[in-house]
Amino acid sequence: MRILVPVKRVVDYNVKVRVKSDGSGVDIANVKMSMNPFDEIAVEEAVRLKEAGVATEVIAVSAGVAQAQETLRTALAIGADRAILIESDEELQPLAVAKLLKALVDKEQPQLVILGKQAIDDDSNQTGQMLAALAKLPQATFASKVVVADGRVQVTREVDGGLETVSLSLPAVVTTDLRLNEPRYVTLPNIMKAKKKPLETVKPADLGVDVSPRLKTLKVVEPPKRGAGVKVPDVAALVEKLKNEAKVL
Ligand code: AMP
Repeated sequence: MRILVPVKRVVDYNVKVRVKSDGSGVDIANVKMSMNPFDEIAVEEAVRLKEAGVATEVIAVSAGVAQAQETLRTALAIGADRAILIESDEELQPLAVAKLLKALVDKEQPQLVILGKQAIDDDSNQTGQMLAALAKLPQATFASKVVVADGRVQVTREVDGGLETVSLSLPAVVTTDLRLNEPRYVTLPNIMKAKKKPLETVKPADLGVDVSPRLKTLKVVEPPKRGAGVKVPDVAALVEKLKNEAKVL
């Protein structure tokens, strides 16, 4: 069984992003970039399935600028077997990424595609769902447990107030939630090994996909600054403020 894992290069989750002065987006010049955390979980899950003898090959794919190769090398160091960079300097929106992934699904014929539930830069939570629709595959989003058996995948999903378990026929699309697993630390020997693993580069045009943006960002603004707090003398004053000022009681 072959597993395809799309990984996105995003601003590291520890970085406090700054909005550009013209409000056109966030400043990513000279900022630490890393693999989207949900995608790390996706790679970990795919590699565990390989280690368990369920999967035979794990392919990592990233769409974006040439530096996304670093993200792919991290995926290879976690344990992916090979990587594909779909290189483009254009802004790639979720629909464009989903179309690119659909073209790769057609080419590579994976039995399972495991994506992150969302990219922490655009917070879209769209790509997996769009890919499933375009490729006409069943999907299970927000997975907290994945079990592959008898040609099906059983996915436990985190839903409001509990857990839901669904069973999908393969091939299928799964998106990861935070509690699916804890990704391993990437060790130096594995980083060295990853340098020798195959990494192929293609362009969107090679896959016959038009990636031009369909959405226009009108404005990006900083969240409002928090006002200073006040001290209240006693509980009665606090309750009074919560009731009459904040109106939350
Ligand atoms: P989003 O819909 O943008 O929130 O992204 C959801 C998931 O789609 C991510 O966690 C990745 O697994 C995948 N994805 C999104 N953009 C890319 C990209 N440029 N390259 C590879 N995978 C991507």
